[in-house]
Amino acid sequence: MINEILLNWYDTNARPMPWRIPPADSVNGVRPDAYHIWLSEVMLQQTTVAAVIRYFLAFQRRWPDVHALANADDADVMGEWAGLGYYARARNLLKCARIISSDYGGIFPDTEAELLRLPGVGPYTAAAIAAIAFDRQATVLDANVERVVARLYAITAPLPDSKKSLRGLAGQLTPAKRAGDYAQAVMDLGATICSQKPTCEICPVAANCMAREQGIATELPIKRAKLPKPTRYGIAYIAQRNDGAILLETRPEKGLLGGMLALPTTKWIEAAAIEAPPLDAKWSTLDAPVKHTFTHFHLLLTVKTAHVDMAAAPTRGQFEIPTAATPGKLPTVMLKAYSAGISAIGVE
Ligand code: SF4
Repeated sequence: MINEILLNWYDTNARPMPWRIPPADSVNGVRPDAYHIWLSEVMLQQTTVAAVIRYFLAFQRRWPDVHALANADDADVMGEWAGLGYYARARNLLKCARIISSDYGGIFPDTEAELLRLPGVGPYTAAAIAAIAFDRQATVLDANVERVVARLYAITAPLPDSKKSLRGLAGQLTPAKRAGDYAQAVMDLGATICSQKPTCEICPVAANCMAREQGIATELPIKRAKLPKPTRYGIAYIAQRNDGAILLETRPEKGLLGGMLALPTTKWIEAAAIEAPPLDAKWSTLDAPVKHTFTHFHLLLTVKTAHVDMAAAPTRGQFEIPTAATPGKLPTVMLKAYSAGISAIGVE
């Protein structure tokens, strides 16, 4: 019943997305390209649709199928991903593309169980690909769906403890037919009408919603209080050589921002940063540190700059003449430090 109403609503209200098959075509059996669904779903992990569209189109243009992506240079992919955050996703994206290209002949598996074996594909992404790309009866449960289900059934137990029961209820709602469209319908409802501030007056399932009936919609879902995020401290070094080149390095594959182009920095620790300059120079310190928030901590990054001569021999990284493309290859925190540093040091 609820799923039928949502599918009817989706038929006229589906949000257009570049990877999505409109419902009018979907009901006639047109299926989206699994490569597009996988790519978009990996990008959408922890990221909004609005932010993802530009990146999706750029990837699609540059690497139109999974074989093309599998053959791409790591640095090109990491550079194209820069700014999207959660860089482990990009590393896993490449690993997964190479497995699909070499082991599966470029054809994505169509079951949740098989999809789950791929790098970077967790339960949510496996269900989303199985449902949307292959119309499998898979239950998609992201934060939007959790919110909708918690409200429909007035679940007052806090998350994450209530996850299991929310998954069970979401599973009961998932229809055998048009499971892909249903998954997208409920995600769209959560992203638009049943958002943090729900607009129940225009909601297609208002008559079936227990939270609305009880007047507690805006309070749900209840979340267990999180511990405050700790703050870590570090130093980013910007060395400019006489020819204008800037010292950059590729971060180690494992760890935060792994494989990304970056400024040399110290370790990021929950105490005063310990100096680790990449070369001997007369370093100047910018007045204000750069602030950035990661999933598990805040970072205060002091930025130090120095002019060095052509004989400068760094212990790590390499000097590169910055181009118009250089800032776009840097992850957001590095771009903040780079922008602060180059305006202080006078690099164009
Ligand atoms: Fe969400 Fe309100 Fe619709 Fe209930 S009636 S599902 S709370 S928008």
